[in-house]
Amino acid sequence: MQIADRSVASFHYTLTNEAGEVLDSSEGREPLAYVHGAGNIVPGLEKALAGHETGDSFKVAVTPEEGYGPRHPELMQTLPRSAFQGVAEPQPGMQFQGKGPQGAILVTVTAVDGDEVKVDGNHPLAGQTLNFDVEVTEVREATEDELNHGHVHGEGAPAH
Ligand code: ZN
Repeated sequence: MQIADRSVASFHYTLTNEAGEVLDSSEGREPLAYVHGAGNIVPGLEKALAGHETGDSFKVAVTPEEGYGPRHPELMQTLPRSAFQGVAEPQPGMQFQGKGPQGAILVTVTAVDGDEVKVDGNHPLAGQTLNFDVEVTEVREATEDELNHGHVHGEGAPAH
């Protein structure tokens, strides 16, 4: 059967950026399973998967608009070190829960310069073209529970 709304598809993937660096991959793990049409994965990848069947392999370049969105410069801020209470030594790469325009966001420390700490609240993949290399491993009909919940219920997972 073909991937369409109300189906559950599983696929292996490798995600590379424009420089060809591997950012993420399902290699060595279970394939990723999702409910098609439920917004479980980025829109550009979901769109590209539609109509494919078990065994299909394809590549797709997902633009930021159909991926994790553009980068918002206003989410990059410089804060005084005193804003990090309870953190002895803020370091680049550390992540903290912060307040964004639409509620809680995850911010990443990008630089520390004396008393100034630069943070970035953008998704790490925002603004990037995402190159997916995909292999579809299974397509099946979603159960009513999965459709109601909007996510996949794995094998052996308790009913909820
Ligand atoms: Zn559920």
